[in-house]
Amino acid sequence: MNPDFLILGGGIIGLSTALELARDGACVTVVERGVAGGESSWAGGGILSPLLPWNYAAPVNQLCHLGNALYPDWVADLQSATGIDPEYWRCGMRVLPPFDADAAHNWCAQHGWPLVQDDNALWLPEVAQVRNPRIIKALRAAVLARGIRLLEGIEITAVTRTGSHLSAVDTTHGRIRAATYIVTAGAWSQTVLGELAPHWPIKPMRGQMLLFRAEPGLLSHVILQQGIYLIPRRDGHILVGSTVEDVGFDKSTTAAAHAMLYSAALALLPALQNTPVIMHWSGLRPGSVDNIPTIARHPLIENLYANTGHFRYGVTMAPASARLLADLIADRPTTLNVMNYQWMP
Ligand SMILES: Cc1cc2nc3c(=O)[nH]c(=O)nc-3n(C[C@H](O)[C@H](O)[C@H](O)COP(=O)(O)OP(=O)(O)OC[C@H]3O[C@@H](n4cnc5c(N)ncnc54)[C@H](O)[C@@H]3O)c2cc1C
Repeated sequence: MNPDFLILGGGIIGLSTALELARDGACVTVVERGVAGGESSWAGGGILSPLLPWNYAAPVNQLCHLGNALYPDWVADLQSATGIDPEYWRCGMRVLPPFDADAAHNWCAQHGWPLVQDDNALWLPEVAQVRNPRIIKALRAAVLARGIRLLEGIEITAVTRTGSHLSAVDTTHGRIRAATYIVTAGAWSQTVLGELAPHWPIKPMRGQMLLFRAEPGLLSHVILQQGIYLIPRRDGHILVGSTVEDVGFDKSTTAAAHAMLYSAALALLPALQNTPVIMHWSGLRPGSVDNIPTIARHPLIENLYANTGHFRYGVTMAPASARLLADLIADRPTTLNVMNYQWMP
């Protein structure tokens, strides 16, 4: 039997969208070329906030804010369904200068965000984080527990349009049909749709990170300075990130980024001096104009939707974005204005 929904791409956005639709009673299949969550969703830092919210447009902050509000219950549900702890942690974020203190204070006052300024730094106590590999593991297990079909190791190679409908998707394992299709292929979303979305401004933006194996307790909050951040994990590991590079689908890591991240990390936290770096990786973010994702129906194809282009904040936005799309598809009232996330072909 054909599924109600075929989800094209199994990152954090595809998996959370699948779960949300299944919760509405739909029969859902996810097609993923690699392993679920193995691309940008695995590579990210897991900070659940725009780095400096006052630098972003309202649609970005609104989606992040709703994501933040949903996160505690979302991770609790995932953990009780799967037994996997995504390590949600409201650890706070310290922003070191330079920054625009007036803009920060105004924005936080307007939006009810607690903000403290001390020693010439900003302290945002509400900023939380999750551990990417753990939230993905929990989501994947929850998807399977829900009876969603997860087809991993299967690549979408073509999509077939018949008039105003998408009629089939070709994969490396044959043709799949569904009533409705949702593209969640992250940085590859435009490639997957090809001529159906010729001018869609979604493109890969590489980000590189380093991982230090430090002792637990060395750092207990996120530190951010001029776009570079340190993220502590509960077991002592500390991530430093990240670059934002417009280099196409090149996922290699570079010595220059390693050197830059390493020296930035030591400047932020000199106690890392003798701490080993145990990993260096990169991921391709789904870049979009002004970081505003597309959560919408295709302008011409009635049974094709997108949930993609979350750029730097897909982990933060995932629960809100999935909810918004499910509400849109079910024609329910939406918490946010869907017009802000329209499909610009
Ligand atoms: C270094 C770095 C740091 C980041 N830090 C943060 C952060 O702190 N906080 C935050 O909120 N966000 C962060 N992000 C961004 C966040 O990770 C992304 O926005 C998010 O993961 C996007 O999720 P996605 O599911 O759309 O994409 P992806 O995780 O890339 O998933 C897309 C999936 O589609 C699959 N796919 C592609 N083509 C095909 C095909 N032809 N057939 C089948 N499957 C296909 C891919 O294999 C992939 O698994 C960071 C990203 C990076 C790289």
